[in-house]
Amino acid sequence: MSKYIFVTGGVVSSVGKGIAVASIGTILKSRQISVTVQKLDPYLNVDPGTMSPYQHGEVFVTQDGAETDLDLGNYERFINVCLTADSNVTSGQIYSAVIAKERRGDFLGGTIQVVPHVTNEIKSRFKRLAESSGADVVLVEVGGTVGDMEGQPFLEAIRQMRNDVGRDNVLCIHVTLLPYLVTTQELKTKPTQHSVNELRRIGIQPDIIICRADYPIPEAIRSKISQFCDVKREAVIPLETIPVVYEVPLVLEKEGLGILVVDMLNLKGEAPDLSHWEKMVASHKEPHEPVNIALVGKYVELKDAYYSVRESLYHAALYHDRELKVTWVSSEDLETGDADVLLRSAQGIVVPGGFGIRGIEGMIKAATYARENNIPYLGLCLGMQIMVIEFARHVFKSPLPNSTEFNEQTPYPVIDLMESQRNVREKGKTMRLGNYPCKLCEGSRAADAYGVGLIHERHRHRYEFNNRFREQLEGAGLVCSGLSPDEQLVEVCEIASHSWMVGCQFHPEFGSRLGQPHPLFQGFIGAAKGVLREGAQTVLPLST
Ligand code: GLN
Repeated sequence: MSKYIFVTGGVVSSVGKGIAVASIGTILKSRQISVTVQKLDPYLNVDPGTMSPYQHGEVFVTQDGAETDLDLGNYERFINVCLTADSNVTSGQIYSAVIAKERRGDFLGGTIQVVPHVTNEIKSRFKRLAESSGADVVLVEVGGTVGDMEGQPFLEAIRQMRNDVGRDNVLCIHVTLLPYLVTTQELKTKPTQHSVNELRRIGIQPDIIICRADYPIPEAIRSKISQFCDVKREAVIPLETIPVVYEVPLVLEKEGLGILVVDMLNLKGEAPDLSHWEKMVASHKEPHEPVNIALVGKYVELKDAYYSVRESLYHAALYHDRELKVTWVSSEDLETGDADVLLRSAQGIVVPGGFGIRGIEGMIKAATYARENNIPYLGLCLGMQIMVIEFARHVFKSPLPNSTEFNEQTPYPVIDLMESQRNVREKGKTMRLGNYPCKLCEGSRAADAYGVGLIHERHRHRYEFNNRFREQLEGAGLVCSGLSPDEQLVEVCEIASHSWMVGCQFHPEFGSRLGQPHPLFQGFIGAAKGVLREGAQTVLPLST
């Protein structure tokens, strides 16, 4: 039977609860204890697929095609697992399921209430994931902060779980923030005491408290939290802000969290082996020559919108012994600005995924700049479509080639709505989503990067390359190097005469891991690192 670890957050949101959960998973897995993870999102959307990046940041796509919270990306990257739709539960899903059952008459005339109907539905999701994964431990993160109105049913369900599956099989970890007062130069524990009180009011006593802080946490503060919150002294785990998130598992392990969790849940594990993480973090800390990458998108002021892209670039840079420097270029600024100035130091250009017309011409300008100056270019989903539009404008010597997403009347619809999308009216979960196979053409850059002929990658799009233009564009030097098995969908494109200009219709950024960078990112950074640009390279001091 699986054991459960529930992780709640207190004081403020964005305190790094997702990274803490991913790190707990990592330290358990390093003991050969199998782990799966679930994120509970209290909002009423069924999934984040319909939400603006301004609301939610990146939408992470699982292999089975669920549009999920970006924390799932951290779980996958840290624990090195591939999660499924069962790993993201929202209030929207829970209420839809309960109401659908009511409409079917499943409740036999009963009055439908939050307790027990909604809480039973929530608990069934915990148990469903435990059964389908067979994991030793199911780690469950509750989104938001204790005290949020929408989060109450989730907390009540967790409280009930302690009785349902036995107290020895459930552990509650609370992640809080200790704010720092500059005037008195001290960390304060009161907000933590209040949020623990709020949890207790619901009936949950945390077993472990992880304290985030921007400054070192003195022993006296740990003792105080232990006393006021009724948690063992060694179960108050300090977690000071550190620059590399991948170091968090090492910090938590050092603070004794691994032993504590194993003891409290009576788990059978082996001696922890975090040598892989230690090696990676040590390598990060060594000085490296930089590699300068320009990321051209419309949400550059909101880094969370491209979370997995940035992580994938980081994994690949570390692989190539380079320090990643990302210049975030607003595609709107590029529309009116000078590419020579905005992209001057870029050794490589990435155009990530996106929707809508805002900033599109700026992205096309970035692709022109990359093609004409032979700068490595990686186009991700929309970024591939941009690359095709740009190439078509060059070949047809016309500014009119476009995607029908941006101009329905274009005489050159080189990117067009997929046949299967023509009758789709609903927005939620209706894109081409999740893993699809793709054949790579021998000798192409993509095939070289992957080293295999057949790949499976995650998708999230409605538009695609229009085959009507394939012959003409191929004749002019576009290589359609990745195709669906029936050869009807172009999944990867490259420019034959360019050093490394590759676009893919899928999202490779969801599959990259620390120590196992995604082949396309690895190939891209490999090409970019050798490019000489103004102001991009710094000469490292000779070691003495
Ligand atoms: N908007 C484009 C489409 O729907 C690209 C989507 C994306 O980049 N994920 O096809």
